[in-house]
Amino acid sequence: MFLLGHLGIGLGLAWLLSWKSLARIDYRLVLLGAILPDLIDKPLAYVTGLDSRLWAHTFLFLFAILALSFVPALRGFRLVGFGVATHLLLDMIWNQPAIVLYPYYGWTFPAAPFNVDRWYDTLLHDPYVQFGEIVGSLYLIAFAWAHGIRSWRALRNFIAHGTLPLIGPARLQKD
Ligand SMILES: [Zn+2]
Repeated sequence: MFLLGHLGIGLGLAWLLSWKSLARIDYRLVLLGAILPDLIDKPLAYVTGLDSRLWAHTFLFLFAILALSFVPALRGFRLVGFGVATHLLLDMIWNQPAIVLYPYYGWTFPAAPFNVDRWYDTLLHDPYVQFGEIVGSLYLIAFAWAHGIRSWRALRNFIAHGTLPLIGPARLQKD
């Protein structure tokens, strides 16, 4: 799964789960979490020569984020954690138990040559990835439309402040 699939489907799931709730969640944190494992691991893979799924694709990483969310000032981390959980789900990470259950199977990760061509190849030929990118894009558009993000200005406001024109600025849920 690539960028739009992760962003869109992660956001879509958060949207679905918060549909009935009146609390305003900061969807930017979900979006951040939805791509965080790749934001961390892909550059690390480039630097270390290891596979592109590393520490940030482990339950250890997810649980660390969720544990931090118990600190009152870091409550937003649970939204990041939710995003990370959707990322692991869409990566079908259970197919790589040695990574997701790290360090249960050992402290090292498999080495793999950093290969951007392989990503293009996947994008062009893997129906799962293509389907994910399309569905993700549709969710992003539907979300933006439903929340009144219909101009570049509105998009900039959302990115800078989490503002949803039809709902208002993002606020941390107090419960
Ligand atoms: Zn990933």
